[in-house]
Amino acid sequence: MSEFYIKNNVLRSALLDTAGIVHGFSTRLGGTSALEYTKSMNLAFGRGDKDEVVIENRRLFAAAVGYDPARLVTADQIHSDIAVYADGSVSSFPGADALVTDVPGVAVGVKTADCQPILFSDPEAGIVAACHAGWRGTVAAIAEKTVCEMVRRGADRKRILAALGPCIGKCCFEVKDDFIDAVRAADPSLLRFIDSYHADLSGMNEYILARAGIAPEHVAVCLDCTCCDGGLYYSHRRQRGVRGTMMSVICITTGSPV
Ligand SMILES: [Zn+2]
Repeated sequence: MSEFYIKNNVLRSALLDTAGIVHGFSTRLGGTSALEYTKSMNLAFGRGDKDEVVIENRRLFAAAVGYDPARLVTADQIHSDIAVYADGSVSSFPGADALVTDVPGVAVGVKTADCQPILFSDPEAGIVAACHAGWRGTVAAIAEKTVCEMVRRGADRKRILAALGPCIGKCCFEVKDDFIDAVRAADPSLLRFIDSYHADLSGMNEYILARAGIAPEHVAVCLDCTCCDGGLYYSHRRQRGVRGTMMSVICITTGSPV
């Protein structure tokens, strides 16, 4: 299944919907940022918007998705392969790139602008995760490490659903020899996803999840390229670093699915 659709300016996965999971991938739409390069739904501090603008955007995004912004948990995202468990007692984790929770109401989120956000759920176990997979994290198999942490908390990989959100596409992800050398050193099986000096980040993560035992019918892949679609997404590459940031969030609710 690969259907993604936009509702209330938020990109959603039909696959996660079927399990009644509160989740969303933000777009540029529906926020209050007025700067040319952050308009309008920048969700990260320190990118040019005043803090109160970001706080308001986070409130609007949370309302559109259906979680409590006061219970959002994020990570510092250091391009690592580290997945941590979040019980909601702290709102930010230094030194991690994926967050796993089984606490209803705790919303786990990752920030991206070309890197790939991946949202996971085992609906039966009541376990969700959000993963930030840039190329370094991807080749270090952060997606698989996230699955392992979910399983350690009681999830079953036969049930785990994964939605791979919008990232830079192979069309725009031109790489150099040092990138190829780093992939070869980390995981040579991923070299097949580099072709004519263009890398397929999403393809790598899809392959890593299949290798980790996630069924293909439990994986949804968004085909949008963040670099190509400037109307819908921020892109670090297209905007040469002067850009807003998107956020992808997932949350277990105690009530009925929205
Ligand atoms: Zn592209």
